[in-house]
Amino acid sequence: MRSFWILGNQLSHELAMLKDMKEDDVIVMIEATSRATWRPYHKQKLVLIFSAMRHFAEELRDKGYTVDYHEADSFQEAWDNHVKQYTPDEIHVTAVTDEPMAKKLKQFGKKHKLIEHTDVPLFYLSKEEATETLGNEPWRMDRFYRHMRKRFDVLLEEGKPRGGKWSFDADNRKPPNEGLSFPSAIHFRPDSITKDVIEKVESTFSEHPGEVTSFHWPVTHAEARRALKQFVEERLETFGPYQDAMMTDEPEMSHSLLSAAINIGLLTPREVVDAACQADAPLSSIEGFVRQILGWREYMRAVYLSVMPGYEDVNTFKHERDLPSFFWDAKTELNCLHQSLKPVVAHAHNHHIQRLMVLGNYATLFEINPKQTSDWFNEMYIDAYDWVVLPNVLGMALHADGGKLATKPYVASGKYIDRMSDYCRDCPYNPKHTTEDDACPFNALYWRFIDRHEERFSKNQRMKMMVRNWQGRDNDVKADILAKAEQTLTDSP
Ligand code: FAD
Ligand code: SF4
Repeated sequence: MRSFWILGNQLSHELAMLKDMKEDDVIVMIEATSRATWRPYHKQKLVLIFSAMRHFAEELRDKGYTVDYHEADSFQEAWDNHVKQYTPDEIHVTAVTDEPMAKKLKQFGKKHKLIEHTDVPLFYLSKEEATETLGNEPWRMDRFYRHMRKRFDVLLEEGKPRGGKWSFDADNRKPPNEGLSFPSAIHFRPDSITKDVIEKVESTFSEHPGEVTSFHWPVTHAEARRALKQFVEERLETFGPYQDAMMTDEPEMSHSLLSAAINIGLLTPREVVDAACQADAPLSSIEGFVRQILGWREYMRAVYLSVMPGYEDVNTFKHERDLPSFFWDAKTELNCLHQSLKPVVAHAHNHHIQRLMVLGNYATLFEINPKQTSDWFNEMYIDAYDWVVLPNVLGMALHADGGKLATKPYVASGKYIDRMSDYCRDCPYNPKHTTEDDACPFNALYWRFIDRHEERFSKNQRMKMMVRNWQGRDNDVKADILAKAEQTLTDSP
């Protein structure tokens, strides 16, 4: 007989390897305590994976498969027991993208006969196709995305982009207006399986960060499909225009909250994109959403595959400050940070612009060590995996790779946060001030960043205007701003 090992982020009935199974083959699933402590993961991440695994095992058994499910201290312990009982000739696995798990499997392959199957449909592209499509540097997401639209025939009419252009990004940057509200996303109530897992996580992983009682994530395919349907029918319309906006006590806005389900196989990216393309919603919203999955998600994964190993240590700007402790409890008077961190502690999630333009921007301007920052993202988010965290954090948010992934750093002053959010209204700092006592700390630090990297960015098409703006200032004004920036760093935790 043969064993088919399904990992906790491969929970799809459409896995290619399942099509290869015969009657006496056995599926193996392992809830390993040691894997759950590779990092101090947010408690809700552990609940999601263990609960979704247990539900998936039940679904497979209902379909007639034999499933050998283990709650073990380690993968090895579970395998020793499995091999003793079943003596498999071969062990089949689905390809993994994350380097640490790929290494683990390689080691495992030295002891056992391991057969690897493609991870399509967890991604549109197999690992080989992803790196091939990305091609040689310089990489560009818009080129990659156009290729994907054509290759998979998405939003095309007679080979041309529907609506006459490939991207409607320019229509999708509305600031939040007073009184704006959004239809709520579905929050799922934990069933008895999830409640059991919550108990296990609270007792076994009590030292891990994050709250657990507020768990509301979909843990089955049926729940994930319900969330997708509701998003497409009720929330996609406002996803587009307010994609970049941030609002007080509105951590979800019109974001889909589907990444947690997509990244563990409860939804395939293709079914999500297909559902969005059939929606009764403005094309700018549909295209804006499709670009995130068919474009950004696949692009990030292709970049990860091309830059690893080694990428985890990039630190172009040589930032070495420590990440402050308020990242774990959201207790800070800087309101934009408080508003962005609160949902991470409570739900292991916040939306893209909070991740990029508040937290990433903070880490860059406050000169926080990139590895500490990416570790925090890797540990605290419900949807975090190495392949998606490292390019998003080190490449996109921190520009710590020197521009391999993105053409410019996503740095901004408090004025940007003030324009795109209502956070500054309830903050003790003033986004219009730069050197005064109540000045928003992002302002002077923004100019310090431009000053320190003047030479690098004076040749960058998308940054050179800001460099010229800085160079054109009076020397006394510049000295005051730089002194304020220095003081801000000295005073910050
Ligand atoms: P929506 O805003 O509804 O977007 C739709 C879908 O598009 C998401 O579900 C996701 O599958 C995909 N997507 C959108 N942007 C990206 C992107 N840049 N990379 C990959 N997929 C994308 N995404 C993760 O899945 N896991 C992470 O750990 C993660 N960490 C991030 C860290 C930083 C600093 C930044 C800037 C982005 C990160 N992202 C990550 C990307 C993005 O922020 C999340 O996918 C998104 O916020 C998830 O919420 P949602 O499902 O409501 O997304
Ligand atoms: Fe954030 Fe500055 Fe606005 Fe306060 S004033 S919320 S610190 S951007």
